[in-house]
Amino acid sequence: MAETGTRPEPAVVARGLVKRYGKITAVDHVDLAVAPGEVFALLGPNGAGKTTVVEILEGYRSRDAGEVAVLGLDPARRRARLKPRIGIVLQSAGADRYLTVRETLAMYRDCYPRPRPVDEVLELTGLLADRRRRVSRLSGGQQRRLEVAIALVGDPELLFLDEPTTGFDPAARHDAWQVIKNLAALRKTVLLTTHYLDEAQALAGRVAVLVGGRIVASGDPATLGGRDTVRPHLRFRAPDQPLPPLETVSRTETDGFVDLVPEDLTAALHRLTGWAIEHRTALDDLAIRRPTLEDAYLRLVGDAGRAAGPGSR
Ligand code: ATP
Repeated sequence: MAETGTRPEPAVVARGLVKRYGKITAVDHVDLAVAPGEVFALLGPNGAGKTTVVEILEGYRSRDAGEVAVLGLDPARRRARLKPRIGIVLQSAGADRYLTVRETLAMYRDCYPRPRPVDEVLELTGLLADRRRRVSRLSGGQQRRLEVAIALVGDPELLFLDEPTTGFDPAARHDAWQVIKNLAALRKTVLLTTHYLDEAQALAGRVAVLVGGRIVASGDPATLGGRDTVRPHLRFRAPDQPLPPLETVSRTETDGFVDLVPEDLTAALHRLTGWAIEHRTALDDLAIRRPTLEDAYLRLVGDAGRAAGPGSR
């Protein structure tokens, strides 16, 4: 890929992207940049505009304003040139039910100028053992893997995954995460949408939160919404003896639990555990908590909703 100075050209760039459906502004001046080889997750509540953004990037929807470059091409004008270079996994796709997994991939493989070997794609997507199985006999999770395999067989530089694990059981979700990690190890650029915050946390190097068509926050999932700057919080069941004096920022006791934010976490833990041993008492269910990505997300979505006011869209 072309380089500008030492920085690689982004795989995806959108500037001032706008999409209206009648009176609804579904996408409202969105700016995005996804670096090559990055796994980027677009998060947001139902109706936030995620699918609209992704489909504009894929070249399947038109835009009303803004600039877009996907692998250096405008998807609205260069869809045919872009098509062999991107892989798309929709929420539900349709493979021929009477073909086997291997036959399906071999068929798609013939459509691309530089495909990946079918067996390698089967291995990457965890479908090797199911290669002779008919599509009609696959479970929901296996079908979704086949859709990823189809998107991968043309060896695309960029993959769009729309809610890749919706409806999966926990084991299937973890298997699907491994497939996405395999894609990341191949240095593919992945743009995924998801409603699962743990999924974004496990997979994405960067996330953006879309609310009401606008990006309200973006960055590393570990620091989104300033979650890394919030002091850790200690929680344990209230012991039946008075606690020792502790330097705390806040302290409450509700429903039989003590919640406190210590000035110094290590010192507070030392003091508390030493006290508990000395007094032969337990600090049951002791836990240290920092805001999770879900806490940060819910706060961002709530703040954005309140700022927009009722009926703003
Ligand atoms: P979800 O998480 O539910 O899939 P989303 O974030 O992908 O939602 P979009 O599907 O992009 O959101 O929808 C954004 C807004 O645009 C919504 O208000 C939706 O009702 C509206 N919208 C989407 N597609 C169309 C369409 N073809 N015609 C009219 N309005 C539409």
